[in-house]
Amino acid sequence: MSRKPLMAGNWKMNLNHVEAAGLVQNLAWTLKDRKFDPERSEATVLVPYTDIRTVQTLIEGDKLPFSHGAQDVSTHESGAFTGEVSADMLAKLNCAYVVVGHSERREYHGETDEVVNAKARAALAHGMTPIVCVGEGLDIRKEGRHVPYTLDQVKGSLAGLSAEQVGGLVVAYEPVWAIGTGEVATPDDAQEVCGAIRGFISDEFGAEAAAAVRIQYGGSVKGSNVAEIMARPDIDGALVGGASLKPEDFASIVLFYEQ
Ligand code: PEP
Repeated sequence: MSRKPLMAGNWKMNLNHVEAAGLVQNLAWTLKDRKFDPERSEATVLVPYTDIRTVQTLIEGDKLPFSHGAQDVSTHESGAFTGEVSADMLAKLNCAYVVVGHSERREYHGETDEVVNAKARAALAHGMTPIVCVGEGLDIRKEGRHVPYTLDQVKGSLAGLSAEQVGGLVVAYEPVWAIGTGEVATPDDAQEVCGAIRGFISDEFGAEAAAAVRIQYGGSVKGSNVAEIMARPDIDGALVGGASLKPEDFASIVLFYEQ
C-alpha cells in the first residue's frame, strides 16, 4: 500500500491572524513557483485557534494546495469548560487535522496518554484526523529505553480505537530532545522507532492498519535534512515546528521528493 507523505507545519503559539494570512499567501506563492505536485506529497498547516477562520477562508477561497488544522482539542463535547475549544467547533471550521499529545502539552499541561486518547477520539468522532504525538525525553534515550517507552505511549494513546480508525490516523514520533533544539535524530534513530511503532500497530490492530497508518518524524526537520529522513521505509512525513514559519524552508520540506 502506498502512503502519501504528510508534511505538517505546527506553528505553535506564533503569528496573529494578520500575520497568518501573510504566511499562508507566501507559502502558496512559493509552492506555486516551485511547481508543487500535491499528488506526490500532502501539506497542512496547524495554526493557533485565533488564526483558523482566516486561514480557512484563504485556503478555500483561493483553492490553495494545502489544508489546515488545529494544535489541540478539548476532550469535552460542550459546556462549562472555560477556555476550551471543542472538536465540533474545529470541524465546523473544516479542520482536517488536529494535533493531540504534543510533548509541550504533555509537559506543560500534564496531559497523560488517557487524555491524549480522549482527544484523539473527540477528533475522530467529528471526522478530523488526529496527529497523535509520542516520543521520549533525553533521560529515557540515554537509558536506552526509547523504544518500549514510546510504544507504551502509542498503546495508551490509541487504546480502544478500531483497526479502521488507527489505519486512518497519523502518529508523529518526536523525540523530545530533538524538538526546537537543532538536534536531529539520525535517520537510523528515527527509523528504529517508527518501524517499531508500525510493528506494534500490526500486532495490536492488524497488518492492514499497519500498512495504512502514516507515521511522521518530528524534531528539527529542515529542507536540508528532510530527504534522508524520508528515504527510510517507515517514515511517511514530518511534523515541523520552527521551519514551518519560513515559507521557503517549509516548501523545501513539502517538495522533499525533488531532492
Ligand atoms: C514540533 O513542534 O513538533 C517540532 C518538531 O518542532 P521543531 O521542528 O522546531 O523541532
